Amino acid sequence: MTKNTFHLVSLGCAKNTVDSDSMAQLLLRDGYRSMDDPDKAAVLIVNTCGFIGPAKEESYRVLGDLAKSKRNGQVLIAAGCLTQRYGVEVAQKVQGIDGILGTRRWMDIVQVVREVRKGPRPEPVYHLPETATVVGSDENDALRVSVAGGSAYIKIADGCRRPCAFCAIPLIKGTAVSRPVESILHEAQTLRDAGVRELILIAQDTTDYGHDFGLKDGLAVLLEQLTDSVPDMDWIRVMYAYPGYVTDRLVEVMATRKQILPYLDMPLQHAHPKTLYRMKRPSNIDWVHKTLAKMRAAIPELAIRTTFIVGYPGETDEEFQALYDFVNEIRFDRAGAFPFSFEPGTTSTPLGDPVHASVKEERFARLMELQQSISLQVNQSYVGKTLDVLVEGFNDGISIGRSYRDAPEVDGLVIIEGKASVGDIVPVRITGAMAYDLTGVLAQKLITL
Ligand code: SF4
Repeated sequence: MTKNTFHLVSLGCAKNTVDSDSMAQLLLRDGYRSMDDPDKAAVLIVNTCGFIGPAKEESYRVLGDLAKSKRNGQVLIAAGCLTQRYGVEVAQKVQGIDGILGTRRWMDIVQVVREVRKGPRPEPVYHLPETATVVGSDENDALRVSVAGGSAYIKIADGCRRPCAFCAIPLIKGTAVSRPVESILHEAQTLRDAGVRELILIAQDTTDYGHDFGLKDGLAVLLEQLTDSVPDMDWIRVMYAYPGYVTDRLVEVMATRKQILPYLDMPLQHAHPKTLYRMKRPSNIDWVHKTLAKMRAAIPELAIRTTFIVGYPGETDEEFQALYDFVNEIRFDRAGAFPFSFEPGTTSTPLGDPVHASVKEERFARLMELQQSISLQVNQSYVGKTLDVLVEGFNDGISIGRSYRDAPEVDGLVIIEGKASVGDIVPVRITGAMAYDLTGVLAQKLITL
């Protein structure tokens, strides 16, 4: 074990990755080094996810494994959504945790590490939130960024004020708090200067950006200012749009500002109005049809991603069939699905979890099989075309990257024959398609041959 070293495991979504990288930056600044091997690190940190049942199980499993293998002198800190939501209960369930941090207290990591390293104590050190943190309001602002290859996530808000009946995020994170525009612009400029090629805007609901400032069409306003402020940023990608809030102005900004990728991630969760009503989600499916048609007309190359929940309480065969037919009709570039998992404390509590697990699994498998065939067909339509690809890695004669159609971690990859430099955006002639990924060759290489 090496003194002043840490090993950090980041679980869950991109929003957690931002907090993990911010904690790592603070520790690096304090003289710590990051270690890949947990056995060699003095401080073990798990940034947990508590979003749904399987994510909670994974968080407990990783914490439990590290607690069991903890050696003399090592300390274990649990941070993130699970601890934010369950606090003391996490330390009771996993013996051996020395420190507990909530999601809005990630910036206390150095202080917590110092406290827990003073020596054994009867109780863990708790840094849990009493109040919402206004993201970007303090000196740690510049750290709220996660850089990977040529891409960086920027969190534009934290928390959520939507009432979705299945979701624990508002319980965990509280209501939406937007980050000041100037702070986002400043960070974007810093990232541009550091060579970042793709900015990925994230929040629980990006289309709600600025509502707490009284800003109308806040996301569109932010995108206009961002594209003016960093005109040489190659790609700007927007994630997590809420149905009903993709406005005409937002569509226009996306269609006319070339840096904004023609990519829309809009988690729809279901397509039957009755299911959506029980979910306390916007249930106007006509709006979805009209908005997607409008966007496809304004942005012909638009790639659309969404996610669905199957087996929501009360989901009848007819309701599931409506979802299946909708997916078949819209032909999303990308669609993910989750079998419903009940979260105690959410407003779906009175509904319980009545759809049998085998029914959920069967519906999930049917929907994913359909989507895989659609995704394959859509991917095949790109064979012979040339796409710009942001290169993320090279190994053994093969480069790997993403096109505008692929958000990191959730979408596909472009596998390129030959060597391209990591961080470059290169034209790739697509030569093959699979359900999720594309294969291709460097277009420049073809020209020189
Ligand atoms: S929009 Fe709904 S599902 Fe998404 S974080 Fe907010 S409450 Fe949860």
